[in-house]
Amino acid sequence: MAFEGLTAKLNAAFKKLRGKGRLSESDIKEAMREIRLALLEADVSYKVVKDFVKSVSERCSGQDVMESLTPAQTIVKIVNEELIRLMGSENQRISISPKPPTVVMLVGLQGAGKTTNGAKLAGLFKKQGKRPLLVACDIYRPAAIKQLEVVGGQLGIPVFQMGQENPVKIAKAAIRHAQQHGNDMVFLDTAGRLHVDEALMNELKSIKAEVQPNEILLVVDAMTGQDAVNAAQSFNEWLDIDGVMLTKLDGDARGGAALSVKAVTGKPIKFIGTGEKLDMIEPFHPERMASRILG
Ligand code: GDP
Repeated sequence: MAFEGLTAKLNAAFKKLRGKGRLSESDIKEAMREIRLALLEADVSYKVVKDFVKSVSERCSGQDVMESLTPAQTIVKIVNEELIRLMGSENQRISISPKPPTVVMLVGLQGAGKTTNGAKLAGLFKKQGKRPLLVACDIYRPAAIKQLEVVGGQLGIPVFQMGQENPVKIAKAAIRHAQQHGNDMVFLDTAGRLHVDEALMNELKSIKAEVQPNEILLVVDAMTGQDAVNAAQSFNEWLDIDGVMLTKLDGDARGGAALSVKAVTGKPIKFIGTGEKLDMIEPFHPERMASRILG
C-alpha cells in the first residue's frame, strides 16, 4: 500500500517521544530531524520538506508544547494539521458550468492513467445523474481511441471520435454533439507523450484557447514521485491547470507526489485513482489523506 515507509518512519519518531514524558528542546530537535528524513525518503520535494519542518518545529518549540501533559500527542496533532494544510485544507470540486455542457479537459503524460481515469471520472458523474460524453482527442495512437471506446462501453457512456481529425476540430464538434444530444458534461481525452514536449504543449494550448474548457485536470502517476511533481509543474506553466488527478495510489507510491503537488504548483489534487477497475476513483480529501499517512 502507498505511504507504508513514511507512515512507519513517522510513527517511529512519535513513539520515541511518547516514551519520554517531558520533552527537552533536544528531543524535539531529534524528532524534527527524523520527520525531515522520513519525508525526504518518501520523495517529497526538498523545499517542501524544508518549509514543512520549519512550520512544524516553530509550532512545537513553544513552551505550551514542552510543558503540556502529553507533548508527544500535541506534536502528532501539529504534524497532522500541517500535513492537511500542505495538501490544501479541503476537497476541491469540479466547477460545473451554468451553461451546459461542462467541458473537462484531461491532460497528462502517456501511461499516467489519463484515459482510464478520465473514464472513471465520467462514471462518477454519471452515478450522480449527469449525462457525460467521452471524447477521443488523442489522434496519434489508434489504440487510444479503441481503449476509450472499450472503457466507455463498460461504463455505458457514449464516446465521440473522428479518427485522426485535428483535435481542436474534434473537441468543437464533440461539444456541438453534446449540446444536441443532451450531454451535460464533456470529457476530452487528449494525447500524451512520454515526456513534456513543446509540440504536445502547443497542441494542448490551442485546444484550451479554442475550446475554453471549464476545467483542465492533469493526470499524474503517484508511483513516479518527483517526476510526477516535475510534470505537474511543467503542465501548469504551459496550461495553467485547475487541478490534479493523482493515480495509482493503490500501489507502493512513497507519498512524494501527494505531499508536494499543491505546494509546488499551487494547484490542488482533486481526485485520486485507487485501482485499475473503473469505479476505483475518489474525491481527494486532504484530512483523510493525512490520517492515512499518520496511520
Ligand atoms: P494514459 O496513457 O495516460 O491514457 O494511461 P491509461 O489510462 O492507459 O493507463 C495506463 C495504465 O495504468 C493502465 O494499465 C491502467 O489500467 C493503469 N491505471 C490507471 N489508473 C490506475 C490506478 O489508479 N491504479 C492502478 N493500479 N492502475 C491504474
